[in-house]
Amino acid sequence: MEFLDTTTLRVAFGVVAVTLLGLFYFVTFQRTRSVYSAWWCVALLLFLAGAAAYLLDGTVHQQWANPSGNALLVLGAASVWAGARTLRTDGPQPWQILAGPAVTLVVSVLDNPATNDWSGGPVFLAFMCLFLALASAELWAVKRSYSRVRQSLALASGLLAAFYLCRWIVFIVEGPDGPTFVAYFDSAITTLITLVLLVVVSFSMAALSNEQVTQDLHLRATRDDLTGLLNRPGFHDLAMNELKRIRDSRTPGALVLADLDHFKTVNDTYGHAAGDVVLQAFADACVGTVRSTDLVGRHGGEEFVILLSGADSNRAEGIVGQVSARFALASFSEGFKPPTVSYGIAAIDGSSKDLGTILATADAALYEAKSLGRNRAVQGSSGGGD
Ligand code: GH3
Ligand code: MG
Ligand code: MG
Repeated sequence: MEFLDTTTLRVAFGVVAVTLLGLFYFVTFQRTRSVYSAWWCVALLLFLAGAAAYLLDGTVHQQWANPSGNALLVLGAASVWAGARTLRTDGPQPWQILAGPAVTLVVSVLDNPATNDWSGGPVFLAFMCLFLALASAELWAVKRSYSRVRQSLALASGLLAAFYLCRWIVFIVEGPDGPTFVAYFDSAITTLITLVLLVVVSFSMAALSNEQVTQDLHLRATRDDLTGLLNRPGFHDLAMNELKRIRDSRTPGALVLADLDHFKTVNDTYGHAAGDVVLQAFADACVGTVRSTDLVGRHGGEEFVILLSGADSNRAEGIVGQVSARFALASFSEGFKPPTVSYGIAAIDGSSKDLGTILATADAALYEAKSLGRNRAVQGSSGGGD
């Protein structure tokens, strides 16, 4: 297949990569600014540079171009992994990204790159396989809430990793001139496969980047900065669904409003920053006590709201007792004791009306708890209080 020689394919690869890079940079990255799409731009750029370096094979420049091409491609694969990792955590350390390409470069330079266009071949193939496999594993592990796009991406990088694994094994067994390697795993075929995957992946990436941004925005819009709890609108959204679920399943539930007692004194005596730490400690006490399926929100200032599903008001009273007990154990650098807390509890059952009414019941009960001397829980009478 004369017309499909490696050089032609590499040029085609270059053209496609440039096009994708342009599209991806201007359409996806500029708009979403997602970390993930930034890494993908970097990866495309590196693949492009690597493919360009290989074009110098057979010229006097092969000596430096061939090892550089290897290192650039491995760095590109490492960037794919780094990008995948940002979907879950903070991304890898610089050395984790750079070590593989550096080793590849050194080994290739020492492997007669002037005459050997497979200089450092086994190390190069092994690192390509490793980073693509890591990227695939990372994508599988991404939260369920990301769409099926991540599955196709995980599959794409997994397949490519498997392909590189086969290349690596065949390379070790029979070398770059062996019949199997030439027939199935040589540069032309690899370039063609990579080309197709590059297109598939770029499109999927665009979709995933959009999702990443959307999720970030959603998280920022529904979470309270200080405590990490749901903020008021975030709580209301989820509570509406939960309320419906409680009603439909005919299980009991309870809504609790909690308000720290004489909290203003903490601020006035120890400063606003100390007050913030107290709020965080109370949030931790709530989250540490309730079940992970319960909802905890910051309703405003030093007022918190908890939706307990499966608990009637008596059980809820027990739970808030545990919250207070846990909160009482908190210690602060200024040496003061945590404030006490008052609670208003509203029962939720099949006959419960809307969230607003339930909140009003809890609020009235909380008011009563305050007027009865604070540091206590009061169960509201259904029907909105008053
Ligand atoms: P009570 O027992 O009646 O609830 O008295 P209280 O002092 O807790 O209630 P009050 O409503 O008088 O004061 C609430 C205080 O909470 C006043 C406000 O400055 C403080 N506050 C509200 N939001 C924050 C915050 O984000 N950080 C800090 N440090 N303080 C806050
Ligand atoms: Mg208060
Ligand atoms: Mg208050």
